[in-house]
Amino acid sequence: MPALLPGAATLGESRQATLGVLGGGQLGRMFVHAAQALGYRCVVLDPDAVSPAGSVAEVHIKADYLDSLGLARLARDCDAITTEFENVPALALETLAGMRVVAPAAAAVAVCQDRAVEKAHFKAAGVACAPHAVITNDIELAAADPALLPGILKTSRMGYDGKGQVRVSSTAELAAAWADLKRVPCVLEQMLPLKVELSVLVARGADGQLVNYPVQQNLHRGGILAVTEVPAPDVPAAVAQQAIAAARQVADALAYVGVLCVEFFWLDDGRLVVNEMAPRPHNSGHWTMNGADVSQFELQVRALAGLPLPEPRQHSASVMLNLLGDLWFSGDGGPTPPAWDRVLALPGTHLHLYGKAEARHGRKMGHLNVTAATPQAAHAVAAEAAALLGLPADF
Ligand code: ADP
Ligand code: MG
Repeated sequence: MPALLPGAATLGESRQATLGVLGGGQLGRMFVHAAQALGYRCVVLDPDAVSPAGSVAEVHIKADYLDSLGLARLARDCDAITTEFENVPALALETLAGMRVVAPAAAAVAVCQDRAVEKAHFKAAGVACAPHAVITNDIELAAADPALLPGILKTSRMGYDGKGQVRVSSTAELAAAWADLKRVPCVLEQMLPLKVELSVLVARGADGQLVNYPVQQNLHRGGILAVTEVPAPDVPAAVAQQAIAAARQVADALAYVGVLCVEFFWLDDGRLVVNEMAPRPHNSGHWTMNGADVSQFELQVRALAGLPLPEPRQHSASVMLNLLGDLWFSGDGGPTPPAWDRVLALPGTHLHLYGKAEARHGRKMGHLNVTAATPQAAHAVAAEAAALLGLPADF
């Protein structure tokens, strides 16, 4: 397959090379920005009238993900199509794949959509994950090994940012939690003593070329990513190497095309286990927009277009602070924007807001990247920024 070159019109065609995105959220928006910088035209399909990605793409098709007319229009308008979230119906990707280049493939996205299938894939790829049991019926519920308790019951599908999860410490609590989750298919995972959470981003081309970023150390608050630090301050080189090798193995075993994020737990006893993966650029990779010579979004564009994938080079120590809607509610009155002018007075601060009109608690509104010559300097500035924003000093 020849690469889809950006900019100039393809021979015999009058329009610019065009990339399509399923989904109009912030990941789609940052993908569109990267694609446009390279000279591609972008089309976003999203059901909402106004969306972060829909408002920056050249064309926004306002349609449901399974609307056949909308999908046909997307396929007609675009040379290649990607998705910005994993819960897009696999059928939508399959429909498009019959007409256009689609990456990642529907089959790979389907693996990431289901925790049980995902864990089976990790096992097949030779990568250890948390001890767990799949619960889809009363027999499996009764048979769940009590050694998995205390544990976390997670819905197999549609979970994100800690949603669809219940912590359980007895078989009675487990049964009650499964009933609360409406008895949908679930995975019961043993609660593990986490020392550090980390993630690895890889990008893989259709020709099998595979590149990766350094290990990212992640701090979550209330199930939502709060801070990412690169280099990872608390991860020894041997553990980092193990995580990178595992992430590459997982991508190869899927014959994956595009950017893939693999999340890991490094445990108190020194073991490294894989947690989950996302078939797309990831919140923990947002630092690459300012701290590396090629961002995760540009790598996604390149992989989709069949362009070469350069080995990314981190040129600055980086800390990323997620900016949730809660920051707009620090005063007594209505929502007010944080003091960006004071934050941006700090050296090496890069603000990215996603164009969401309304701030809400827990809503991802943007992120702040801090870059510096040394990890210590990046950390110190990030701590100052966090203090100005009223964020905890727990990193
Ligand atoms: P989500 O899809 O919502 O990101 P995760 O499975 O990544 O779901 O869980 C969210 C967070 O909950 C993790 O980042 C981690 O902090 C915590 N967590 C999840 N599973 C476990 C586990 N088995 N043991 C300890 N903590 C866990
Ligand atoms: Mg997660």
